[in-house]
Amino acid sequence: MSAVVELRGVAKAFGPAQVLRGIDLSVDEHQIVSLIGPSGCGKSTLLKCINALEPVDAGDIWLDGERVSGPGVDLNFLRRRVGIVFQNFNLFPHMTVLDNITLAPRKVLKQRRDAAEHEACRLLERIGLAAKATAYPDRLSGGQQQRVAIVRALAMNPRLLLLDEVTSALDPQLVGEVLSIIAELAAEGMTMILATHEMRFAREVSNLVCFLHEGAICESGPPEQVLGDPRNELTRAFLRREGATATAAAEAWLA
Ligand code: ADP
Ligand code: MG
Repeated sequence: MSAVVELRGVAKAFGPAQVLRGIDLSVDEHQIVSLIGPSGCGKSTLLKCINALEPVDAGDIWLDGERVSGPGVDLNFLRRRVGIVFQNFNLFPHMTVLDNITLAPRKVLKQRRDAAEHEACRLLERIGLAAKATAYPDRLSGGQQQRVAIVRALAMNPRLLLLDEVTSALDPQLVGEVLSIIAELAAEGMTMILATHEMRFAREVSNLVCFLHEGAICESGPPEQVLGDPRNELTRAFLRREGATATAAAEAWLA
């Protein structure tokens, strides 16, 4: 089976700072990959490179066998197929929930308004937010905004979903509702790469965990191995520190 996304030797610098140092990663359909590692190790940059929000300096990225990095890349092909959700939701504040969700399907996929809204309402129903369709984002809790942001990405029916620390900006009591949606998507077979600090959640939902250190994947493998019996001293040191900061909310969600 060919990979949904494949990275080979991906490198990226910001000025003198080498932020990604030759990343190799292959993600198959239905696979869920967690990127873990200390703040500044390059998780967000890696996700942005996959989505071409940041150009790579070297290396290649393929999506379903099509090259999606380097000059002349078809951004439309890429953005139709790859959804990304950020830590801070990034909903458009001047647009209703419904308009936030239907914007890309209408503009990029050329869906008719009624079809796009029908699908948006179905998705909102699913996450229990149908009543908020005409609300503006500032009327929603952080957890609700993040669920809308995830639905906005899902409305494009993406081939791959990138989630960048989507629970990090939430009050602890709101983390669980967002983790639940991700777990549901995982159960349905959505292919995902998630940067996360929720180690127990990563262990629960992912099939592959990659530990990044200073822009390189220094250990990767099944979650039980990387999180339960890490071989690399850097991974061990990171997990010792991170273990002390696991959120009570994630613990509660997993209980
Ligand atoms: P992480 O998500 O793992 O915390 P990031 O990918 O956000 O790490 O950042 C990796 C490094 O790249 C950090 O040192 C950060 O300061 C730097 N960096 C990220 N984005 C930019 C940018 N647009 N310009 C300059 N430096 C950046
Ligand atoms: Mg980040």
